[in-house]
Amino acid sequence: MSEFDYDLFVIGGGSGGVRAARVAAGDTGAKVALAEMDRYGGTCVIRGCVPKKLMVFASEYANVTEDAAAYGWSHSAGSFDWASFRGKLNSELDRLEQVYRDLLKGSGVASYDARARVTGPHEVTLSTGETLSAKHILLASGGHPVRPELPNANLGIVSDDIFHLDALPKSLLIIGGGYIACEFACIMHGLGVEVTQYYRGAQILRGFDDEARGLIADAMRERGIDLRTGTNIVEMAPASEDHTASWTGTASDAAMGADVKQRPALQRETGDTAGPIWVKSTNGNERVFDTVLFATGRDPNTADMGLEDVGVKLGRRGEIEVDEYSQTAVPSIYAIGDVTDRVNLTPVAIREGMAFVETVFKGNPTPVDHALIPSAIFTQPEMGTIGLSEEEARDREPVEIYCTSFRPMQSAFAGRPDRVLMKLVVSVETRKVLGCHIVAPSAGEMIQLAGIAVKMGATKEDFDRTVAVHPTMSEEIVTMKTPMRTA
Ligand code: NDP
Repeated sequence: MSEFDYDLFVIGGGSGGVRAARVAAGDTGAKVALAEMDRYGGTCVIRGCVPKKLMVFASEYANVTEDAAAYGWSHSAGSFDWASFRGKLNSELDRLEQVYRDLLKGSGVASYDARARVTGPHEVTLSTGETLSAKHILLASGGHPVRPELPNANLGIVSDDIFHLDALPKSLLIIGGGYIACEFACIMHGLGVEVTQYYRGAQILRGFDDEARGLIADAMRERGIDLRTGTNIVEMAPASEDHTASWTGTASDAAMGADVKQRPALQRETGDTAGPIWVKSTNGNERVFDTVLFATGRDPNTADMGLEDVGVKLGRRGEIEVDEYSQTAVPSIYAIGDVTDRVNLTPVAIREGMAFVETVFKGNPTPVDHALIPSAIFTQPEMGTIGLSEEEARDREPVEIYCTSFRPMQSAFAGRPDRVLMKLVVSVETRKVLGCHIVAPSAGEMIQLAGIAVKMGATKEDFDRTVAVHPTMSEEIVTMKTPMRTA
């Protein structure tokens, strides 16, 4: 008989926590419990990747009728019914949540629908008042979106709220230039919302390859998103009647500026989007929007979990500090996923969970490999990327840049100006492909496969030896013969 109630207690029922719990229980026979205070599936399934991707699909149908007409079809365009889509979306999320619950049950994991706090190196206390002991504790409590410190910031919504909107706004201001800001700018524009985006820096998608993010910014503007770089929000308040009379929220009106005097007191609750919002930007422009979305980053969920009291060390933003085996400063406590703020992506959290089980329950110490992780940004067009950007690579060693940008056959035939980009960053010395960056429809699908080659250490000559698949967009990745430049 173990001295503990459980071999493993997992806090957080997202992708990482659920995978670790069910593999530990299913593969090793460990006695495992998991506590989740919200819905099973976590950010990815309930309020992130999955509903976001379904919204991407919904928004991409916007141009289908026009494009089909260019190909000889005759259909008349309809309108988008948010309520109908949201109903189907919610049913799908209910189904997926049940799948997660069933997976845990099927593996013999005990689930607690409660908030858990760590009250000792081997002890958790639930919001139900119950105290349980475990040989190991795994923290997988994820993260949450944050608003900037700005008076009245609670008038704005965050990404969690998007999926619950009663109706789509007519005009939307998005603050931020990261993944979430750019993806929702494209989604909402596709669904017919008038989108303005303020990003404080010089170019959106900081950290990604300059040429790739430049092309995405151009494409977003080309499609009609009012993207303002070097611009941030400085003030916001519920719009008075004066404001709404002067402003209908259109981009063209906004460019002309306005004389706005009155700023009524805040009356609305967080995320309540009833009523337009007056916004002043860093360049002095004043505008009114139906909704303001803050996509200004995410913080780890570590507040009020008792972590520092038991000796778990936290970083500056509240992230849990772990070693390469995901072990915290307390030997019996481990942490995986967004709560550690390493690489905040679902498949990475899952790998960290699997490596934890391998290390702790299978006696096979397994560090997590965070090198060369392919990823996609679901803007329109998408970006798929792996490895170093040109800017990062040229700071490290001499590189050759192979790059081509062109109008792809399918949309060019339909008369669209869309361009795609295929880019390889190659080491002059080793000939290895250090980075691959694709901006194109379905770039996420392409980079998954190109990622295998890059992860294997393929050289430019390995790419060249591969026969092109014709006619495709991605054939360019194996047919670029001459470097565009060296750096
Ligand atoms: P990011 O960190 O990617 O972007 C935050 C953005 O907000 C940045 O542009 C940042 O500007 C800006 N910002 C931060 N603070 C302020 C402020 N006070 N005022 C104005 N702007 C501000 O966070 P996201 O929320 O977009 O995404 C969080 C994480 O979720 C990502 O890092 C990613 O790991 C994950 N994710 C992945 C997706 C995918 O794989 N497709 C999709 C969505 C999310 P600056 O650049 O100047 O710092």
